[in-house]
Amino acid sequence: SDHQLIYPPHPDQMDWSSLFPDYVVHEEPQQPQQQPNPSAAAPSSPGTDLAPFQPKRLSKDVEIADIGCGFGGLLVALAPTLPDTLMLGLEIRVSVTQFVEDRIQALRTQARRAAETPSDSSPPPAPGMYRNVGVLRANAMKFLPNFFRKGQLSKIFICFPDPHFKARKHKQRIVSATLNSEYAYVLRPGGIVYTITDVPDLHEWMVRHFEAHPSFERVSEEEQESDPSVAIMRTETEEGKKVERNKGQKHVALFRRLEDPEW
Ligand code: SAM
Repeated sequence: SDHQLIYPPHPDQMDWSSLFPDYVVHEEPQQPQQQPNPSAAAPSSPGTDLAPFQPKRLSKDVEIADIGCGFGGLLVALAPTLPDTLMLGLEIRVSVTQFVEDRIQALRTQARRAAETPSDSSPPPAPGMYRNVGVLRANAMKFLPNFFRKGQLSKIFICFPDPHFKARKHKQRIVSATLNSEYAYVLRPGGIVYTITDVPDLHEWMVRHFEAHPSFERVSEEEQESDPSVAIMRTETEEGKKVERNKGQKHVALFRRLEDPEW
């Protein structure tokens, strides 16, 4: 349940270092400030002399979020195409999150080894491949602004979200007026929300809710089809592959985050 979920009280308190260790900025530890007259120092009560938690800083911020990333197919395919962009999957299921974590670790190790092993036939991969991808167990419906600052993200993917068919379950859908305001908050103006589903009713629901939101406009079909991330989203997610096997339809819609109006 959400009680076991760990999330930072504020994005500045988020420690990304274990997810993206290659991007950690190594800073000189700060010297503790000298008390001019130690005997005159006020007595400290328990806990009050603790320094505030300072997470390690990264040289860049996470820019792409995959909401409900499942087994991580999208991220793993996207990572080499945007090698300098940090991307994060958010997944609520414990075992699935663990699977993606292991998958990323294995891919990183494989890439490093392949880069170290000379081959006549193929050019070596970049040794740092997959260093830009991470996964977190989180309830994306609740804690998004705890992880990301306002305007931090350039892309949000919502791929084959759970349809929650019954009307009384619609409030559990990952697209809603309230949640769209959270996506608008964490996305920068010009940023894009990518959606795909095989459920026509859910597609219409997502289009309706994003089009009704003042912070978003739908991206034209021409622009949509020329975006390389769309081709990856269509073919590389596990759910997308399942739909392909079953000869199902895939409905795609993209929405651009608009500039905020000047007050
Ligand atoms: N996006 C993946 C794909 O296309 O293959 C997985 C799609 S699967 C149908 C939906 C995923 O969303 C599941 O893995 C589920 O556990 C996850 N999910 C559902 N609600 C979520 C939430 N509130 N926060 C994070 N993940 C969630």
